[in-house]
Amino acid sequence: MKTLLNTPIRYLKGIGPKRAKIFTKLGINTVEDILYYFPRRYEDRRKFSRICELKENQIQTIKAQILSKGEQQSFYRQNFRIVKLTVGDNTGKINCVWFNQPYLKQYFKLGSTLILYGKIERYAGLLQINNPEFEIVCEEEANKEESLNIGRFVPVYTVTKGITQRYLRVLIKSGLDEYLPKAGDCLPYDIRARNNLLNLSMSLINIHFPENLDLQAKAYERLSFEEFFSFQAALALRKLKKKEKLGIAHQINASLLNNFIASLPFKLTASQEKVIDEIKTDMVKPLGMQRLLQGDVGSGKTIVATIASMAALQGGYQAVFMAPTEILAKQHYEKISSQLSVLSPSTTLRADDERPLTTLETNQTIGSQQKIIKIGLLTSSLKNKEKERQYQEIKEGSIGLLIGTHALLEEDVKFKNLGLVIIDEQHKFGVGQRSLLPKKGVNPDVLIMTATPIPRTLAITLYGDLDLSIINELPAGRLPIKTLHFKQKDKAEAYNIAKEQLKIGKQAYVIYPVIEESYVLDIAGAKKMSQELKSGEFKEFGLGLIHGRLKQEEQDEIILKFKNKELDILVSTTILEVGIDIPGVTCMIIENAERFGLSQLHQLRGRIGRGKDESFCVLISDDLTPEAEARTKAMLKYSDGFRIAEEDLKIRGPGEFFGSRQSGLWELKIGNPLTQMHLLKRAREEAIKLVSLDPHLTARQNILLKQRLIQRFPGYESLISAG
Ligand code: ADP
Ligand code: MG
Repeated sequence: MKTLLNTPIRYLKGIGPKRAKIFTKLGINTVEDILYYFPRRYEDRRKFSRICELKENQIQTIKAQILSKGEQQSFYRQNFRIVKLTVGDNTGKINCVWFNQPYLKQYFKLGSTLILYGKIERYAGLLQINNPEFEIVCEEEANKEESLNIGRFVPVYTVTKGITQRYLRVLIKSGLDEYLPKAGDCLPYDIRARNNLLNLSMSLINIHFPENLDLQAKAYERLSFEEFFSFQAALALRKLKKKEKLGIAHQINASLLNNFIASLPFKLTASQEKVIDEIKTDMVKPLGMQRLLQGDVGSGKTIVATIASMAALQGGYQAVFMAPTEILAKQHYEKISSQLSVLSPSTTLRADDERPLTTLETNQTIGSQQKIIKIGLLTSSLKNKEKERQYQEIKEGSIGLLIGTHALLEEDVKFKNLGLVIIDEQHKFGVGQRSLLPKKGVNPDVLIMTATPIPRTLAITLYGDLDLSIINELPAGRLPIKTLHFKQKDKAEAYNIAKEQLKIGKQAYVIYPVIEESYVLDIAGAKKMSQELKSGEFKEFGLGLIHGRLKQEEQDEIILKFKNKELDILVSTTILEVGIDIPGVTCMIIENAERFGLSQLHQLRGRIGRGKDESFCVLISDDLTPEAEARTKAMLKYSDGFRIAEEDLKIRGPGEFFGSRQSGLWELKIGNPLTQMHLLKRAREEAIKLVSLDPHLTARQNILLKQRLIQRFPGYESLISAG
């Protein structure tokens, strides 16, 4: 069937195989893709500015003829060529200059007409535009009233080599003309009517070739709504489907949990108590839990996870707890083991054999019955023999709580009766990885934890398929972390802050950026720096270096030494970013802070300030870009993770921020949750309503929506189809 949705782009007039290939690279494969390839901006070409009226420092569009052209060698830089045109209309002249693009020269012919767009400047008394965007006007068009390129609001697209603005305009126009009359609207009529939205044809025409700005705004609103709506409908369907499945009704022994809570060395915060209640309520219900636990770094999510695990264990189910790094998994293992051992005095550590401390048995009294709960730690660095043994014990059910890394996803990991899945630092896992673990049980309850919180309104729209719990306070008695910023040249001062802390017996982290793209170089940088610090600034102190290329045992050894205070300073790459919890560290120096993202800086900072003493986070950077500067400012100003996330969103923009939801599900082309929150909310309400009325999208008015969802969100077919 030849529909708007799936007609391959090559059926459009003017596309040969070569161009089709270029479009494929841009992710454009169908007619729909091209009609949904939205302009980056518009130019008002109904009337051009006259050269005599141009104002300096303003961005303007002019139409003018080429009067002279030339090429120069830059005065300052070798091999840096400058193409220069003088153009004029009948009111004046202006120079146009392009740097380092000598090939442009061939396009310019004396006497031809150009449309130029850029910032008006003045050099040596003469008007000039540097690197203007330009289009060459063909002869007939120059005089024609009605055209795609002149005499109207003209769309400007992001283009690439082999595809020009003018070509794309023609192509899109012919696509609109030919296909729109046949295209149905995936937004049902009553939803459009209720929300006062344009229909699809009007919207697509006016998003590309707006008749006026009002219609463009309406088109933008409708298309954003459509984008939000389809995503929300997809989430609503997923949520519904999950709710339909029968889950486990855990039987929770309240007094056992309360005893455990009473045995902790601290009192739970009110927030922690609240989310624990929410989780317990979910767990006892015979439905599957799908809950997202948001809480700032240091807010105490781990203990919530531990309590949830106990609830599952004491009712006879297994629980699994996945963390993104081996260091973190071990930390959880040690902490949870020791917490549970407090509960039961008859704890026995199995130190009997070749088995390292990867299992722990605790005797717990449950009701009247004695039960042994073993805790296992499974990571990829375990010896094969040890792994086999764990697999066996997991399968038999003798390991009740299994903590680990990605190694948990191995096919050999088979549970006897998995009742609860917990995923820590979920943003570090891909969607694929996250969804694998629950499949190892029969609809187990799922708790997902994240320390990159986003505001609730956004969270429910973004994670609409999950229920949300939020910890919004830190444990009492934490002092705020002092955050400071130094330039590279004032580094010594930064180090002095660390030294003062070390002198009074505290410890410090020095973080060095290591990123994928320049991994080898960065690691070398980290090594070099740690050498320098070791023999220079910090020579009286013990200093260790840890990074991801070290063998796991080496990493463990260094962490252990640092924990035992045999080392005062730990120089580290971002492997410390997630979860590490060592309370005695009161200072963190972040080198080249401009290379970190804002959320990442906040996560790093969360490694300190965990004890009762004042802590210092010192950023060292020479801020190069406005973004880096904005990040530094936000770090100095805010300590609340929710606030930080909002700033991060502003700095990065929604595309990138949500792209990192790693869902791959929601690709925002046009909608902006920040500026269109009200629209997003409405779209969500409509989507939920529609899905609850017609869960399989079989009603006639929903057929096109169904097609759309199946196409946009692969895998949704099974959710939507009847049965
Ligand atoms: P995150 O939410 O970042 O995962 P953690 O669970 O690692 O935070 O907790 C940070 C630290 O705070 C841990 O040392 C933990 O034992 C401690 N902690 C957790 N809850 C409380 C509380 N209610 N009072 C005091 N300390 C707490
Ligand atoms: Mg944590």
